[in-house]
Amino acid sequence: MEERVAIYPGSFDPITTGHLDIIRRSAKLFDRLIVVVMSNYRKAGSHAFTVEERVELVRKCTADMENVSVDSYMGLLADYARQQKAVAVVKGLRAVSDFEDEFQQALINKRLNEDFETLFLAASSENMFLSSSVIKQVCVLGGDVTPFLPERVSQEIIEKLMKG
Ligand code: ADP
Repeated sequence: MEERVAIYPGSFDPITTGHLDIIRRSAKLFDRLIVVVMSNYRKAGSHAFTVEERVELVRKCTADMENVSVDSYMGLLADYARQQKAVAVVKGLRAVSDFEDEFQQALINKRLNEDFETLFLAASSENMFLSSSVIKQVCVLGGDVTPFLPERVSQEIIEKLMKG
């Protein structure tokens, strides 16, 4: 049987414990999961980390997960999914705030490529309030963001954010 590949796209600027939770949970559902660092045009120019840095951070956090790989892509998600023969795109949903935007993206992606489904995983309650942008704000203002970052990369992320 052909392996079932899923992709998990996002900006990951930087990766948080919320992202890592979605990666762990979705990796169990598929033969292979590709985490894809993308450049969101609405956020372009405002990224704290370069694409290469973001990829490297995700790689370090997922090094012990055998069926997870990390990639970057600057084009259309629907095209990337086709190239990888992905059967699903995984998205994490935090309360209502993500819903409208994610629903719109799922529908447009379905129009662009009928071969994959968008799978929404509910954020776990402890990560519900977490976003990369909140972490960046709190960190720059001197708050301790260590609990919200994957342990392996927390110091590296904090140092980079403090340097600005
Ligand atoms: P953001 O900049 O909003 O933190 P990304 O663009 O990197 O997020 O998000 C990538 C994916 O991860 C999206 O599907 C997003 O909804 C999901 N996600 C982000 N933060 C969390 C979280 N704390 N818990 C679950 N899913 C999340």
